[in-house]
Amino acid sequence: MPHRSMFRTWHGEERALDPGALKALRSPLQGNVRTPGDAGYDEARAVWNGTIDRHPALIVTAQTIQDVQRVVAFAQQHQIVLAVRGGGHSFAGHSTCDGGIVLELAQMRHLRVDPARRLAVAGPGLRWADLDAATQQHGLAVTGGQVSHTGIAGLTLGGGMGWLARQLGLTVDHLVSADIVTADGALRHAAPDADADLYWAIRGGGGNFGIATAFTYQLQAIGPDVSVCQLAFPIEAAAQVFPEAEELLEASPPSLSATFVFLTAPDGVPVAALTLVSTASSDQALQSFAPFRRLGTPVFEEIVRVPYTALQRMLDQVAAPGLRYYGRGNFLDTLDPLVIEPLASAYADAPSSQSLVLFVRLGGAVATVPAEATAFAHRNRPWAVTVLAIWRDPADDDANRVWIERAWQALPALPKAVYVNELADEGNERVRAAYGPNYERLSQLKRRYDPDNLFRLNQNIVPA
Ligand SMILES: Cc1cc2nc3c(=O)[nH]c(=O)nc-3n(C[C@H](O)[C@H](O)[C@H](O)COP(=O)(O)OP(=O)(O)OC[C@H]3O[C@@H](n4cnc5c(N)ncnc54)[C@H](O)[C@@H]3O)c2cc1C
Repeated sequence: MPHRSMFRTWHGEERALDPGALKALRSPLQGNVRTPGDAGYDEARAVWNGTIDRHPALIVTAQTIQDVQRVVAFAQQHQIVLAVRGGGHSFAGHSTCDGGIVLELAQMRHLRVDPARRLAVAGPGLRWADLDAATQQHGLAVTGGQVSHTGIAGLTLGGGMGWLARQLGLTVDHLVSADIVTADGALRHAAPDADADLYWAIRGGGGNFGIATAFTYQLQAIGPDVSVCQLAFPIEAAAQVFPEAEELLEASPPSLSATFVFLTAPDGVPVAALTLVSTASSDQALQSFAPFRRLGTPVFEEIVRVPYTALQRMLDQVAAPGLRYYGRGNFLDTLDPLVIEPLASAYADAPSSQSLVLFVRLGGAVATVPAEATAFAHRNRPWAVTVLAIWRDPADDDANRVWIERAWQALPALPKAVYVNELADEGNERVRAAYGPNYERLSQLKRRYDPDNLFRLNQNIVPA
């Protein structure tokens, strides 16, 4: 554990800071500051992924934009490692660090919904549960993640996909504007008619360009109820059922979305499941589900009508904070049996029955936006696959990591395309794969907005 006044710099050195400099940082802050040994330090340093166990030198819980600006100026001046935390759900643990500063935004939870203009202005400390609950009071929503305790900030800045993506597009496709504190400490309003390059870059560019202190979303009418159809098949049937279901999806209305998954049923048997969600009326939803219900012989079938907010919480326990996680992801062009089969047989051998393999359907409205219109490039890849080991006991870390690596290596060559928010620490080549043709422009803009790479604890775009 670092000494109280020792900080890690961008160059990996330990630097003792003059107590006067620290006092000058602390005294005007509205928010709380914790250092190792302070009450609440251990709770404050915990993040969603239980395998990430880091010890920051300072945890600042910002209350105001000025707090954010002060921390940015301090980290920039002393070249100290800075981690920015929204919901703390980074797979790779980028929202914490050893020896640096964690800027925790959880208290910046302001939220205003304007039902007449269908707008929501939201603080970066909110979770999807908060935003969904407030917007659904007016029968409105924006595409959000499939797990409601995920932070709106990190998810939005990476693109944002969820049950509404096929119908509405990505979260960033409804981001009207955002307020961003950039590396020079300035507060900028990024919108189509103000700082348009920054507005382009933050719609997929992650935390590379600054710290978002507010997001304005355009909302759409959704719910309040949606229909959910779950069909589970023996996992051996996956390579046949999934491609057939893919064909049916192509002919389905955009109000129908889908995630296919390998999971372990309560009786301990691995299954291949289809989860179909329809935002249409009950009758129309049943019509959309009908052809899928004629596929194969399901071992489980259920159709329910639930509030949209309940759908958004459906997977919360499966991916609970504090469990241990390790995974790999990629975009796919199609559900090829050459990918499905090895993943199904790998899943049957998973060391932990909590683990999952997910195939999230995109396409639809996501694909109607040109690849170069936002930083998020992979508009034409209709599937995102994630292989995720989930376990409890640290003694099982190695077995689960080895399982993921083996399962991944057994796959044929996949497209050089990955969702930035599903990357682990996989190196610059994979960050480039997340941005494809947009990487060069992002790298130029990184040089303009963050030439020293202050915001480096993320899927880092190297300044040109
Ligand atoms: C259980 C689970 C379910 C998920 N489901 C989905 C899903 O359905 N759809 C989807 O698209 N993604 C999903 N993801 C991926 C998710 O989008 C990313 O993990 C996202 O980064 C989480 O955001 P966060 O604010 O919670 O994370 P954090 O760990 O706080 O931050 C993640 C990254 O964003 C940066 N960041 C955070 N806040 C700010 C800010 N205000 N300004 C600038 N940079 C910031 C951080 O520095 C870090 O690099 C899921 C992840 C998990 C763990």
